[in-house]
Amino acid sequence: MRTISILGATGSIGKSTLELVERNSGAFSVTSVTAATNAEALADIARRTKAKLAVVADEGRLSDLQQRLTGSDCRAAAGEAALVEAASDDSELVIAAIVGCAGLRPVMAAVEAGKTVALANKEALVTAGALMIDAAQASGATLLPVDSEHNAIFQCLAGNCRKDVSRIILTASGGPFRTASAEAIDAATPAQAVAHPKWSMGAKISVDSATLMNKGLELIEAHYLFGLPSSQLDVVIHPQSVVHSMVEFVDGSVLAQLGSPDMRIPIAYALAWPERMATPAERLDLATIGQLEFAAPDLKRFPALRLAREALETGGAAPIVLNAANEVAVASFLAGQIRFPDIARLVDEALSDAKFDIPHSIGDVLEIDRVTRDQTCGMMKTSCS
Ligand code: NDP
Repeated sequence: MRTISILGATGSIGKSTLELVERNSGAFSVTSVTAATNAEALADIARRTKAKLAVVADEGRLSDLQQRLTGSDCRAAAGEAALVEAASDDSELVIAAIVGCAGLRPVMAAVEAGKTVALANKEALVTAGALMIDAAQASGATLLPVDSEHNAIFQCLAGNCRKDVSRIILTASGGPFRTASAEAIDAATPAQAVAHPKWSMGAKISVDSATLMNKGLELIEAHYLFGLPSSQLDVVIHPQSVVHSMVEFVDGSVLAQLGSPDMRIPIAYALAWPERMATPAERLDLATIGQLEFAAPDLKRFPALRLAREALETGGAAPIVLNAANEVAVASFLAGQIRFPDIARLVDEALSDAKFDIPHSIGDVLEIDRVTRDQTCGMMKTSCS
């Protein structure tokens, strides 16, 4: 029986994790579950899984959560310290699926506790990658990537020596504007941008896929996870989203991981690692798919990917600035306040203006994030939500 805590249990990744856990209830025991505000869903999850601790980040939702858990053996708690407690409880495996920088302190707590951490939260590596990797090396924590591309790379690396890797090739679907003209991209609406052709995801990450910023964030994640410089990290557009990423070795061999575009596959890999477990994901039928296409990304129509690579190469605070400015810009785009090309323009301006020291702690990272958000809001004529 493997003990797990699920941070962000009420979200998309959290729900998929719970579905897999409940299908294999004899194999897992859930210790802690967390959410931001959704006390109703969290209490339901805590009762179903018989978790010992349920945490809402929003302290204003604590009494609601306590009421909903009355009569159960689950303790209710709230606030950041309680999230950190859930991350460092006595479970073996932590599913880190909080969205955004709110996940940083809990993820760091799990890493410092030397746990196995199934990492979905992109921001942890994008904004605090060097700190997280150093902490993992010091504590002996294991990071299992849940993002499908990094999970694919992790699978391709199994049984191989890291020194034999010559290149990592991240695949990108190309998003909804892959074949659109520059003029059509300029006029793109939020509804068009969130209509991802292959993956069903939240609005923010779907817009990131449309700008290719998502792939840029993944380049930064890959750099920290696999310890390769930008020059050994490539991106290729692959509209079918069947090949989830590839690793090229010094002898010219290229290993790829394939599967249907279903997050339950990489989540299951992390849950069962180093073994595997069955999932209900659709099986891959290559004869029906027929053709797999690949193309180089167009950095003129999709400048966000170039900006992310530049931020990776600059290092220090640049990836934090990139991430924070992008989040503010995407939220404004979704609110109808700015145009689609303004997202990359604002990120570019934020990176050009940034003057921050190298962060040495999660506190430094959160401060750079906060200042950049304020500055990016200031660059826009409209108010920020
Ligand atoms: P969702 O928005 O669906 O869920 C986010 C979860 O985090 C919810 O449980 C939410 O609680 C909780 N949460 C939100 N804000 C806070 C906060 N301030 N403090 C504590 N908890 C908070 O996100 P996803 O599940 O889609 O994504 C989670 C992470 O995984 C993200 O970093 C994303 O980039 C990454 N990822 C997601 C993929 C996907 O397919 N969805 C693919 C690859 C990576 P509540 O319900 O109460 O709001």
